[in-house]
Formats: sequence, C-alpha cells, structure tokens
Amino acid sequence: MAWVTDHRPDGEALNACVTCGLCLPVCPTFRITGDETASPRGRLRAMIAVEDGEAPVDARFADVMSLCLQCRACETACPSLVPFGSVMESSRAEVVSQVAGERGRFRRFLTVTVLRSRLLLRLATRVAAVLQRLGVLTRVPRIGNQAEGLRRLPLASTSAVGGSWGPADGQVAMLLTGCVSDVWFSDLHRATIELLVAAGYRVEAPSSQTCCGALASHGGFAGDAAAMATANIEAFADADLVVADVAGCGAHLKTYTGSGGADVAAKTKDITSVVAEAIEDGRLPVLPHTGQPVGIQDPCHMEHGLRTHTAADAVVEAAGHVPIPIDRGGLCCGAAGMYQIEHPDISEHLGIQKAAAATEKDTTIIVSANAGCEMQLRRYLSGASTVMHPVELYASQLKHYNG
Ligand code: SF4
Ligand code: SF4
Repeated sequence: MAWVTDHRPDGEALNACVTCGLCLPVCPTFRITGDETASPRGRLRAMIAVEDGEAPVDARFADVMSLCLQCRACETACPSLVPFGSVMESSRAEVVSQVAGERGRFRRFLTVTVLRSRLLLRLATRVAAVLQRLGVLTRVPRIGNQAEGLRRLPLASTSAVGGSWGPADGQVAMLLTGCVSDVWFSDLHRATIELLVAAGYRVEAPSSQTCCGALASHGGFAGDAAAMATANIEAFADADLVVADVAGCGAHLKTYTGSGGADVAAKTKDITSVVAEAIEDGRLPVLPHTGQPVGIQDPCHMEHGLRTHTAADAVVEAAGHVPIPIDRGGLCCGAAGMYQIEHPDISEHLGIQKAAAATEKDTTIIVSANAGCEMQLRRYLSGASTVMHPVELYASQLKHYNG
C-alpha cells in the first residue's frame, strides 16, 4: 500500500532531490552509521519508492524514518531546497496511520494527551519534583536518564498562562507559554516577560493557547498538531508580535499555514532575536564589559528552522560578556524531543560530542536558546558549566546593573 492519508509527502518536493549528496556530511545519523538509508538522500529515496508504488509503508520504512533527528541540517545544505522537515513529518503521519501500533500509542499519549493537558502536566511535574528532591527521579525506567538534565522542578504551579504585564498602550507581544516550558522553565518565562516590558511591550499570555504542536507533528500526529495550531492561531490573532522563548516552539509556529496561520507565522519571533533588536535600537542597554567568556550553543531550530544564530552572540555581548561559539556549524546535540527515549545510543553519542566541544572552550557559562538542547548539555556536562538561556543571562546582568 502506498500513501493513504491527506498528510502524505508532496511528490514534487520529493522529486526535487537531485541525489547530489551535499547533505550527507551534515547529517548526524549518516556520520555515525555511514549507512545510506540513515542519510537524507536515502530517506528521500525510501519515500520516493513509496510514492512510486515500489515499496510499502511497513516496519522497515518506519525504522528508516524514525532514526532521523529532524534537525533539518540537510535542509540548510540542500541546493535544491528540498523541504526535508516537512516531508519527514508527512512520512511519519503515514507511519502512524499504517504501522505505528503500541509504540505509536505510547508516543501519542506523551506528546498529545499529556502535553495538551495543563492538569496532567502539573500533576506529573509535582510527582517528578518530589522524586527529584528524593534523588530518585533519574532511576525511573525509560525516562530517568533524561531527568539528569532538568532544572529544579517546582512543587507548586508557577504558570504564566492568563497573565498580562506592562503598559496598556504598548505594542502587544503575546507569549507562547508552551507545554512543559510553562511548568519547567518558569524562570525563563519571567526573564522573557521582564525584558519585553523593559523594551516597551504590553505582554499577554492568552489562556486559550495550547502546546505549539511541534512534538506531535514530529511524531506524525498530524491531525492533533493541526488542532493545536488552530487553537493557537485563534489565541494569537490580535497580537502585534508572538514571542517564543524555546527555539523549537518558535520554529514550529513559523510552519503554521492558512490565512490565520500565515499571519501568526509572520508575527512570530524568538525572544533572543527580539532582545537583540531592542538592544540594537537602544530600547535595552548595552551593559558594562566584564570580559567573561560565555559559550554559545547554536540550536538546530535556530540555525536551520528560524535561520538565525547571531542573535545569541549579540545578546551575550550586550550583557558584557565575550561570546564563544562552542561548535558553530556542528552537528545536532542529539536532544530532538522524544529521540532521547527512542534512540538513546545515538542521542548519547551526539550529546557527549557536543559536551566535549563545549568543554574544550573552557567557559563556565554556556547559553542555549532551546530547552531540549539546554537539558542535553546539562546532562552531559555533568555540572562542569552552568547552562541557561541567553536572555536569562542578559536579564540577570541587567538586574545587577540596575541595582
Ligand atoms: S543535498 Fe538535497 S538534492 Fe542533494 S542529495 Fe541531499 S536532499 Fe537531495
Ligand atoms: S533532519 Fe537531520 S538527521 Fe534527519 S536526515 Fe536531515 S540532517 Fe539527517
């Protein structure tokens, strides 16, 4: 059986591949395995075989698609502009529809049911926070290892949902509070809100918003991801600016389509870029030079999704520090959402590699604009450096400067 869903990959996009192989050196899974079927070109060939009716969507096809990190480094390298991220999501929607089984049901429970429910997330976080304080969270089967990279989880709710801050007459910047980021990264949301207000925005976090849908979409749950997009498009319709402080979420909002979706996509910016622009035009100050070196990690979602990484350099520099890219142009760090759980060996290999690159730079602070990368770095650096978001670093320096 060939494609069976409305979410099938676009045939024209698949056939844009001219098999030049320029994407191979930037593909982490190809670099590790040396296997053509673990390369962007190989994955596209597998999709074309289904498109042409030469192969079915079966367990083997599912494995070939599953090993991809969806880092989109191949998209940046591709001279034919093959929209790899989009065709991979479409292929996974076909896998979910035709062969997902038990694994698919577990993945859907985590990336759709839990992430869309504030109540479930709060309850799960409270349990995890207790286990974290007891020192046993890292021993929980299947997910325990990933917990090594977590920030300290809150016991009580610290949600920003439903809040509004700043002058009534400012441009309205609506904050995507996200799913786990709303409960696990409340310090980051606080820094984001403080800086937006300081830059003159009215900040609102509409309560009708939901998870951006990135993990659902990456997992192939296209219908669920579309429902999440619809809710967010409605919630952010009146915004002048939509701000995401997790690069992966911002990159996903940028993929929203349709009349309302395209409008939200056009209005979406990552907070690092918003702060860099406010510094550039003088709404936020350049702080006194400290000379302290700070490592910059470039998340794939910034580099290949939002196509910007210089914003973090500008923010760190304006905080008074010396930006030191730890692995510019390097491979994905291996976080990639559920990938750490589903392909722990490759994820670990890439995490160790990225941590080694960071360690070589000999900095005690590292910034990353993506929550998943931050957790991966913290896990594999094992306390050797403090890891935070670039705007948190700037916000804390600004507070220090203002006394
Ligand atoms: S770089 Fe683009 S055109 Fe070349 S093999 Fe890779 S996907 Fe195909
Ligand atoms: S998205 Fe990343 S892992 Fe997947 S094929 Fe492209 S470069 Fe390789």
